[in-house]
Amino acid sequence: MSADPQAGDLRGIGPSLPYWAKATVTRLRSAAWSVRSHGGSQHGLRILFYHRVSADRDELAVHPELFRRQMDCLASAGYRVFDIGQLADLLDRGETPERTIGLNFDDGCLDVAEHALPVLADYGFRATVFVATGVTDGRASFTWYREQPPLLSWEEIAELDRCGTLEFEAHTVTHPNLLAVDGLRAAVEIEGSKRELEARLGRPVTALCYPAGLFGERERALAREAGYRVAVSCEPGVNLPETDRFALRRRQIDSRDSLLDFRAKVGGGHDTALPLRDAYRRLRYGEGRPAAASRAE
Ligand SMILES: [Zn+2]
Repeated sequence: MSADPQAGDLRGIGPSLPYWAKATVTRLRSAAWSVRSHGGSQHGLRILFYHRVSADRDELAVHPELFRRQMDCLASAGYRVFDIGQLADLLDRGETPERTIGLNFDDGCLDVAEHALPVLADYGFRATVFVATGVTDGRASFTWYREQPPLLSWEEIAELDRCGTLEFEAHTVTHPNLLAVDGLRAAVEIEGSKRELEARLGRPVTALCYPAGLFGERERALAREAGYRVAVSCEPGVNLPETDRFALRRRQIDSRDSLLDFRAKVGGGHDTALPLRDAYRRLRYGEGRPAAASRAE
């Protein structure tokens, strides 16, 4: 199972520096955070996101043992771990309690149920899984994989959604770069995935994840009109009661992150985007539309 490094199209990831460079910069920032903060946290609610939890050689996969250590780290530090809906409830009530983290998995891979779910259930943690309905159906595929990892089936998704630990929310239909498609297609992707997922789950779907966190004013408006309550970006930082609900901030946990990197991401050592990241993403994804902004401000 390997991600295709040549894929010029949309990957489900945030900042896209070469992996080795990203890991090196991450390590340096974590060390700086450790010195600066003495391991303490800063105010606000952070959301961590993953894609896969698997021993496969895939830059989007965090090893199951490492994932367990990360969750153990949160539990032993007294953190409560919430899904995106619960996090939105807190923000709506104007609450940003200490030691509270939001958690989610993008793309709906089967290994999330196999390897992450048992750990989350052990600790009483909850998480949101964002699924692209057309990819789950097999009408579309994640183009960055030569061999796509197995995804959760509709039967498994419906069953797990009822069980409590995982809740499933929308991630468009075919996982396109929303900034590169026309208005009609963007509307179909955003509204259609909500409708299709609701038909499968039999409940309202209220959260949207923009593929690779790419969105602009148009996508934000479409999400609001479609009836979503919140949408998540790939911009790092804290979420506060006044944070735009259609641009909630998240930080990706990477396969190469050490436990110190993980603690630094939880504690606020990675709350800002890397220098040159925006220029890199413009080059890579063609974020050229004047209104296009994956910035959460
Ligand atoms: Zn994705």
